Formats: sequence, structure tokens, C-alpha cells
Amino acid sequence: MSLIITDECINCDVCEPECPNNAISQGEEIYVIDPGKCTECVGHFDTPQCREVCPVDCIPNDTANVETKDQLMEKYFQLTAK
Ligand code: SF4
Ligand code: SF4
Repeated sequence: MSLIITDECINCDVCEPECPNNAISQGEEIYVIDPGKCTECVGHFDTPQCREVCPVDCIPNDTANVETKDQLMEKYFQLTAK
């Protein structure tokens, strides 16, 4: 399951450089997560790094993009394949 940034985001920019998949970018008004790139940090870290650093706790699970751990690991392999 991807994570999603809610409109409580204060555009502090601390999450973007922490994402190992470059899934976070500045959107029109707030930062956004590309669900095609977010693996919940599976393959890289034990916990979602963006959520660890967000000062306003505005990065819940994106229930519109539900994936199993195996699917997330497969996505990790696809993203890191060169
Ligand atoms: S959970 Fe990990 S992969 Fe997903 S957006 Fe946050 S830092 Fe990036
Ligand atoms: S860390 Fe949280 S508040 Fe800061 S830009 Fe990322 S989502 Fe927005």
C-alpha cells in the first residue's frame, strides 16, 4: 500500500530527501507521493521514512492503493532493477 500526504501538509520539505524511491515531490499545493514508486520503504527500511520525519503526522496509508508485502517487495525489485 502506498502512503498519501493529506492537506495538513505544511510544505516543510523534510520528507522528500528521505524517500529512497524518489516517490515524493512538490505538487501544486502540497507535497505528493507517487503510488507507483512508494513501497512503504519495503526493501530499504523497516519503517516508512517519510512518516518518521513528518512533523505534523500527515502521511496515512493510501487505502485506494492497497498492496501486500510481497507486491511491495516486487515493486522494490522493479524500481531498483537496472
Ligand atoms: S513510505 Fe518510503 S517509499 Fe513511500 S513515500 Fe514514504 S519514504 Fe517514500
Ligand atoms: S514532512 Fe510532512 S509536512 Fe513536511 S512536506 Fe512532507 S508531508 Fe508535508
